[in-house]
Amino acid sequence: MINESQPSSHEQNQAWQAEPEKIQTESEQKNWIQKIIEFQRTKKGKAIQWLTVLSGITSGSFLYGRLSDRQSRDEAWKEFQAGHQNIEQLCYTNLDAVPNNAEAEVFRQRDLQYEFRLQGAYNQFLKETSDTTRANEILKGLAEFHPSQYDAELKKQGLGSMIDLRYPLPAIKFGAPKAQKEGGEYVFTPEASVADTIFISDESLARIQHEYLHGLGVKYGGGIERRRDHHQNTELNEGVTELIRLKIDKALGEHHELPAHLYEGERFTAYLIQELMGENEFWAAIKNGDSEQIRHVIENKFGKGAFDILLNKQYGLVGLINPHILDGSQAEVFDATSRAGILDQKYFDSFKDRYGIAQENPGQYVVYDSHEQPFGVIKPFQGKIGGSFINQGELVNFADTSGATPFSQLENGSALVEQYLKAKSPQERIPVQYKIARAVEKSLSMPEPQK
Ligand SMILES: [Zn+2]
Repeated sequence: MINESQPSSHEQNQAWQAEPEKIQTESEQKNWIQKIIEFQRTKKGKAIQWLTVLSGITSGSFLYGRLSDRQSRDEAWKEFQAGHQNIEQLCYTNLDAVPNNAEAEVFRQRDLQYEFRLQGAYNQFLKETSDTTRANEILKGLAEFHPSQYDAELKKQGLGSMIDLRYPLPAIKFGAPKAQKEGGEYVFTPEASVADTIFISDESLARIQHEYLHGLGVKYGGGIERRRDHHQNTELNEGVTELIRLKIDKALGEHHELPAHLYEGERFTAYLIQELMGENEFWAAIKNGDSEQIRHVIENKFGKGAFDILLNKQYGLVGLINPHILDGSQAEVFDATSRAGILDQKYFDSFKDRYGIAQENPGQYVVYDSHEQPFGVIKPFQGKIGGSFINQGELVNFADTSGATPFSQLENGSALVEQYLKAKSPQERIPVQYKIARAVEKSLSMPEPQK
């Protein structure tokens, strides 16, 4: 039998609206971080990454070739200019260094470089695949992008110094999504061996915007050199990339989303850190490529380890918000960060006010056991649901994808999953989620609460 009792206050998501009196003292904060870290050390089992399980998600990437190949900028220009007429070598360090009267010409040159890069990618793709339809599709999407428009907006946002003009734009390559995963196969564009290359395997404008930002030679979260040397935080880099993209889209009156909620967790977490730190200090650190400064501020406020827990892609906040990554210990991170005042509702509200994006309350994924302890997460993704729970220090996964126990093995499992997927609002979903959690609990023979 399924426990029919009403959802507790946790299931109704009251817990995440941290009240001031619940904010922990410094030593308590350190305790929650320590607790999560300790748990990670002992945790067995494997989280579910739906992104790779369900796949079908095309992607892009940016390869950093300059440093490893030690190609001088003069060589890069020489190579690019050969075969491309009317390209001029730009000798300005960055966009902020361009005098006003030269800006229009710099923009014209940047657009021209982009057109040539697109043409090169198109021709190369046809040589390899003869798939004209696909090539035209990709080309059509990417041709809507205009570097000059983007650069101008970046400059207005105070980010002009991030646009490195000492190299030509990276080469572009259209890739098949599968090949991209295998890596190392991309040596096709004429410039790929010596210059940076952007790989685009779908036609989304969001994708080219995203990869273009990576390719600018920007310093955020570590620039090209820093990223390889001491900047280790990919999640912050992706989050900031998406945050910049949102700002520019907003200024241009546009909105383009990456497919399948990609980097949603990275994006919101970067925003949250910006708000926790203060915008000025955050962006000053980003412009300096100084993620250590960000870590320092966050850990001073919330205790050692907080920076890594927030940005952890699997069990941290990034993972909790990303709908395609399931790990039971995200529940604990949610609970703890809420109590510490990090996940206050006001951040979700201000994010919505600013960008018009209603970020789903990640508390709606979290389920509690009969003792009201954070127990795991249940998430919908691409018309399926999955759940990851902690039972005696081990992760137990349920999903109708490979590598997890199907929900149908639970009592009433199939019916509950159906109800869950039919729910039209969180209000409808949460009671079903509660019932699923009870069924999981029962199947794991977890102890019943003392009545
Ligand atoms: Zn990226």
